[in-house]
Amino acid sequence: MGKTMCKVIDRKYLKKNLDDYVRMVKKSGWVCMKCGRFAPDKKLLCDAKEID
Ligand SMILES: [Zn+2]
Repeated sequence: MGKTMCKVIDRKYLKKNLDDYVRMVKKSGWVCMKCGRFAPDKKLLCDAKEID
């Protein structure tokens, strides 16, 4: 298993890449039920759930 968004997204990442992250979240169809992170691919989350 590679790096998940859950692991990659931390405070440091958000400070540097907030605009990118927000843009990505808007297009994301998955949320992690454990960490509350969003991603465009369920493989990037540790407990993914599809959202509308
Ligand atoms: Zn997670």
